[in-house]
Amino acid sequence: MDSVRHASSAPVASFQLSPSCALKLQKGDITVWSLDGSTDAIVNAANERMLGGGGVDGAIHRAAGPELLEACKKVPEVRAAVRCPTGEARITPAFRLPVAYVIHTVGPIYDMDRHPDVSLRNAYKNSLKVAKENNVQYIAFPAISCGVYRFPYKEASRIAISTVKEFSDGLKEVHFVLFSDELYNIWLETAQELL
Ligand code: ADP
Repeated sequence: MDSVRHASSAPVASFQLSPSCALKLQKGDITVWSLDGSTDAIVNAANERMLGGGGVDGAIHRAAGPELLEACKKVPEVRAAVRCPTGEARITPAFRLPVAYVIHTVGPIYDMDRHPDVSLRNAYKNSLKVAKENNVQYIAFPAISCGVYRFPYKEASRIAISTVKEFSDGLKEVHFVLFSDELYNIWLETAQELL
């Protein structure tokens, strides 16, 4: 692991997921993250309706502008009020955000999902799949399900890091942009354990 400071001045911890793909961890606001503006994407911890919400979803919609909501409305419903079932992922342009795409995924509500570990793994796995199908090379995740969906942080970090390691082939960098010191420190500790 090496730790460097980027222009944002937030320390970035770097690991290798494979010979060709790096994992980078930083504390911060995912709505200001970007790498090259054309092959980069941020992941939104959305809900099944995909019409915005609180937490990181609200922050992404505010920063992207109203066009993002219009693009989400165009994603077809798979059943009443469900555009993206839990564990799946959908992609839209990013509009006023400094990245090319927003990948919307839905993590499990920890206390309501029968297999929250499987659903969380699917959310990461399918986000990476959609990224690769759209030639994304750099992707940034928030801590999916670690807000109002109440997934325990340590368990979430193990699923997040092991799943991105397993499915990182074809991407150049996978970032986690963690919103608090506590989340950042847990992700860092888990990366040191698993990588
Ligand atoms: P979920 O419904 O999946 O739990 P939340 O948005 O409530 O989604 O929380 C997911 C994670 O995103 C939480 O850890 C929360 O602290 C974090 N978060 C909230 N705003 C931002 C942001 N602007 N950038 C990065 N992470 C954020």
